Amino acid sequence: MESNYIWPIKPKYKVAEHDKYGIRKNHYVLFKERAHSGFDITADIGTEVHPIASGRVLLAEFDGTTTEGFDAFNDGYGNKVEILNDDGRRVVYGHLREILVKPGDIVNTETIIGKTGSSGGSRVPHLHLEIRKENTEETGLAYTINPLELLPKIDLSSLKEEFTLEPYATLWRKLVSDKPWEFTKEDIPYSEDKNYIR
Ligand SMILES: [Zn+2]
Repeated sequence: MESNYIWPIKPKYKVAEHDKYGIRKNHYVLFKERAHSGFDITADIGTEVHPIASGRVLLAEFDGTTTEGFDAFNDGYGNKVEILNDDGRRVVYGHLREILVKPGDIVNTETIIGKTGSSGGSRVPHLHLEIRKENTEETGLAYTINPLELLPKIDLSSLKEEFTLEPYATLWRKLVSDKPWEFTKEDIPYSEDKNYIR
């Protein structure tokens, strides 16, 4: 597949299995297998986010979705922006610290739509990038495309930088280790602390 998309932020840190599109063997909020409909880019808090293509803002709000039976805050997108690309695809930018656009805004790849954070179902500061095949509210692997198929090619294995901001870095190091699924709730003691989940 070809596109003229740009990366919404510049990838900097090592990529973990947990970041990738597809099935996660152990999800760091739910601690069970779960599909991941986007690609996660670990980022310093406050990194400026650009749309991957020009389009129009559909939603710019906090998503506080809570999975039934789940006891922490929520496992939703947190502060998210949804943009309808001019090419007809809907793109979700999740877990932002700050939102800088509103519904109806016309945006292009120069626009700063928000700043990265760790709001919603996030335990390491990152941007969740989700590209839907068309303009749909449905998420899941059937409705989305692996962003790496459409973004400009980067050799992600060449990214070597370590994420060091605690308390998140303890979990992050497990995610990029050679046993990337062997983390437990004990590795995320801040899971219910609002000072960290934002
Ligand atoms: Zn994600």
